Amino acid sequence: MRTPLLVANWKMNKQIAEAQAFAEDFLPRVQGVKDVEIVICPPFTALEAVRRSLQGSLVKLGAQDVFWEEKGAYTGEVSPSMLLDAGCSYVIIGHSERRQILGERDVDINRKLKAALEGGLTPILCVGETLQERENNRALEIVKGQINEDLQGLRLEEPNLVVAYEPVWAIGTGVNASPDDAQEMIGFIRSLLARNLGKTLADEICILYGGSVKPENTAQFMAEADVDGALVGGASLQAESMARIVRFKEP
Ligand code: PEP
Repeated sequence: MRTPLLVANWKMNKQIAEAQAFAEDFLPRVQGVKDVEIVICPPFTALEAVRRSLQGSLVKLGAQDVFWEEKGAYTGEVSPSMLLDAGCSYVIIGHSERRQILGERDVDINRKLKAALEGGLTPILCVGETLQERENNRALEIVKGQINEDLQGLRLEEPNLVVAYEPVWAIGTGVNASPDDAQEMIGFIRSLLARNLGKTLADEICILYGGSVKPENTAQFMAEADVDGALVGGASLQAESMARIVRFKEP
């Protein structure tokens, strides 16, 4: 039984005061919502403020990236144990913005995934094809390559991994994938997880859709058999719209 998971990715947005204001506005709006898991991923600078604001609620804290080493001379990097210490239980890894703008490779993502898991965090692994790759009918091949390389040598005891299918052309564009296309790819990802990690775990791992998710389309994605939740960028910046996404079951 997979619990629906709704994750807010704030990217490089919100000063500390704005992050606190979001939490104050958001928490009453999701009070009493049952059977969903909610995660907020602020920028590193707002983690502590958001952690404090979320205390006593069921909303979890996540980071947007992590480094694979535990400590040492790695200027600018943050380790899994530092994130755990800061109150995070989740971390986004391999977001397409990091792959494209910062040159992150699958081999780096693989090391980050292993380090995050060893450090006790639940990684949210992002994969997805570009528009050109989709137009050239290469979407399945690209995502297959990413999943296989990112999971190389990974052994899991529990389903403490989340995968987010985020077609690059749908991120921040207002153009979402169709629920059918999301289901096709996410079903395919589940079959790849089964090959890499075994069917039992693959059936328990949450796979999210991400790319222009908004309150108006969340329920359509959630109605698909293999879509277990959403990774939300733009629409997660307002408490009102993120709360409506979390309350997707309500008419
Ligand atoms: C994202 O940043 O992961 C994302 C899906 O962004 P948006 O919801 O704005 O498309």
